[in-house]
Amino acid sequence: MRYQAREVGVDGRVRLVLEGALTARDRVGVQDFVLLENFNSEAAFIENLRRRFTENLIYTYMGSVLVSVNPYKDLEIYSPQHMERYRGVSYYEISPHIYALSDNTYRAMKTSRRDQCILISGESGAGKTEASKKILLYYAVSCPAHQRMASLRDCLLQSTPVLEAFGNAKTLRNDNSSRFGKYMDIQFDFRGVPVGAHILNYLLEKSRVVHQNHGERNYHVFYQLLEGGTEEQLLHLHLDRNPQKYLYLVKGNCPRVSSMNDKNGWKALVKALSVIGFTEGEELLDVIGSVLHLGNTQFGEEEDGQTYVTTEMELKTLTQLLGVDGAALTEALTHKKLTANGEEMISPLTFEQAGAARDALAQAVYGRTFTWLVEKINQSLALDGSSVIGLLDIYGFEVFQHNSFEQFCINYCSEKLQQLFIELTLRSEQEEYETEGVAWEPVQYFDNKVICDLIEEKHKGIISILDEECVRPGEACDLSFLEKLEDTLGGHAHFVTHKLANGKTRRVLGREEFRLLHYAGEVNYTVTGFLDKNNDTLYRSLKEVMCQSTNHIVEHCFRRGELVDQKRPEMAATQFKNSLTKLMETLMSKEPSYVRCIKPNDAKQPGRFDEVLVRHQVKYLGLMENLRVRRAGFAYRRHFEAFLQRYKPLCPETWPVWQGELAEGVSTLVQYLGYKPEEYKMGRYLVLMNTLYQRRWAVIQAAW
Ligand code: ATP
Ligand code: MG
Repeated sequence: MRYQAREVGVDGRVRLVLEGALTARDRVGVQDFVLLENFNSEAAFIENLRRRFTENLIYTYMGSVLVSVNPYKDLEIYSPQHMERYRGVSYYEISPHIYALSDNTYRAMKTSRRDQCILISGESGAGKTEASKKILLYYAVSCPAHQRMASLRDCLLQSTPVLEAFGNAKTLRNDNSSRFGKYMDIQFDFRGVPVGAHILNYLLEKSRVVHQNHGERNYHVFYQLLEGGTEEQLLHLHLDRNPQKYLYLVKGNCPRVSSMNDKNGWKALVKALSVIGFTEGEELLDVIGSVLHLGNTQFGEEEDGQTYVTTEMELKTLTQLLGVDGAALTEALTHKKLTANGEEMISPLTFEQAGAARDALAQAVYGRTFTWLVEKINQSLALDGSSVIGLLDIYGFEVFQHNSFEQFCINYCSEKLQQLFIELTLRSEQEEYETEGVAWEPVQYFDNKVICDLIEEKHKGIISILDEECVRPGEACDLSFLEKLEDTLGGHAHFVTHKLANGKTRRVLGREEFRLLHYAGEVNYTVTGFLDKNNDTLYRSLKEVMCQSTNHIVEHCFRRGELVDQKRPEMAATQFKNSLTKLMETLMSKEPSYVRCIKPNDAKQPGRFDEVLVRHQVKYLGLMENLRVRRAGFAYRRHFEAFLQRYKPLCPETWPVWQGELAEGVSTLVQYLGYKPEEYKMGRYLVLMNTLYQRRWAVIQAAW
């Protein structure tokens, strides 16, 4: 048996100190971080990741967590043969894989009858969506099914191209970035056959519909339609194939993306829509076209300040596509209705206000159509089962040069997920030790509840203050919101502004910024636009016009009830907060598995491993803390039967068949292997290997 040890040199690099020859296992690092000799060393952790990445081994376990590094190339490890290989196999028997995690979760659901969830996290471009697609594919292909379920499978798989076309876009970080959060419940019947599914979508980045940063694009579907739509379709929609002709598509100056084929994307979308059974295809096209024409609708200003529409032809097409009255639309784009003392008054919009009203309409039409699409997909998947596996692919922590309301919401979501991680990881560990009747020493970790409270607490959290400012009559503006934050949160350890910092911070803060010290790092948020985005208002007159649309999708999206409802709808951040609270409750009720995705470089290139970038992600994904939690206890736990089955050849007394009690067989086996009492614990059903005595265990693992 080969024996190996690792050593961290003064330069922080890990070297192998070998007794015996260098085995393949040494070259590729350990397949479970828990086996890492120097488990407190971040450098050793990263070196293990790097070593495996270089060998195209992108997956590594950390107990039941799967760490995945984006290879940025096709690895040919996802074939049906690979699926077959992982079916029914115990976690540690073959190389770590997303299929192993999928299979394990599936079996846990079947045997324990407990609902499961898989939480996928990581920053933009780290591979969350790809991971979720692989998991979905695994369940669709390898779970038992009967004939009737074939269509469900197809719908399940085809939901992805539809949601990606409408909800993904090219950003600087990722050519196919999901700009919405997605939680999918996959329903299984008592035999483990997938029978239905349900998708929940979270906060689509609507501002992208009207504006994109340099080097970024609008949602894929627009470019796909222009590139792949038939001549007749484009003629009907009065659209030109050149995206540069549309103001909503030129802001980022990036009409093409080398890694994307928009024509094929369109074909895939059309096919997916037909599989799912969409009958409103033409009306959907009209909606997409109308958004582009809306973007090209321009305004002029009379000498007396009156605003008017200068692009008559655009407006005519727009009217046709939306199925609304032309005069009413023109009026609603240039005037607003006010009610004062019970009387309705019409007041003209300024040039700027008209532009903002147009953009708000485009965002509302697109955003609501996206939600409608999710509803339609859900109808095609609807059927309740007896157990559930939930799959969460939601935005990761995001820091840009300029961070706005969207990043604030995304990073708040990230904080909530970290809370859940802390809660569930520690709780489940502790519960297991209690059930098994073994003692353990809790590990110190940073509890980010303090940051969650800062954001969401009633009356004095940032969201409450924002909401209050949004309804305050008179002078409220983005800057008054910032002042109110300073007044209320001045002494908070995780909140800083220019005024509060008194020039004492490392990075200078602008006068319109506030900084949050998130668990994952500092982020400066510019308050500009916070109030508008939170208010998310659309003038009533525009809503009235949309309600009368003859396009069924638009009509469905703008319900008349909205106009008569006197209650003010919840504001965007509060809506998001409430939907996250619900999501957390859903996830808490399930048994979690985690996929932690890591992005190896910022250039989207294969074979490049940027240590600084990786180190930052390891830090904020809390991987070192997570590892310490695992190591503080018993890294390996196996049911007596599985343990005996696998290792019985190592001991003449247990080989070939152990006749006695299972626990006794396990004791015989471990004692024969020379384990001392402090190295392992016998629980009620499990044998637990003390993590601090990993080396010997690693050797046995390696040999078998
Ligand atoms: P975002 O938060 O922006 O949505 P993400 O974490 O969902 O990012 P993905 O879209 O899944 O990131 O991955 C980005 C790109 O990385 C993919 O389009 C693909 O090119 C590549 N990629 C990710 N995972 C894999 C993989 N397992 N094998 C090959 N390529 C991958
Ligand atoms: Mg994604």
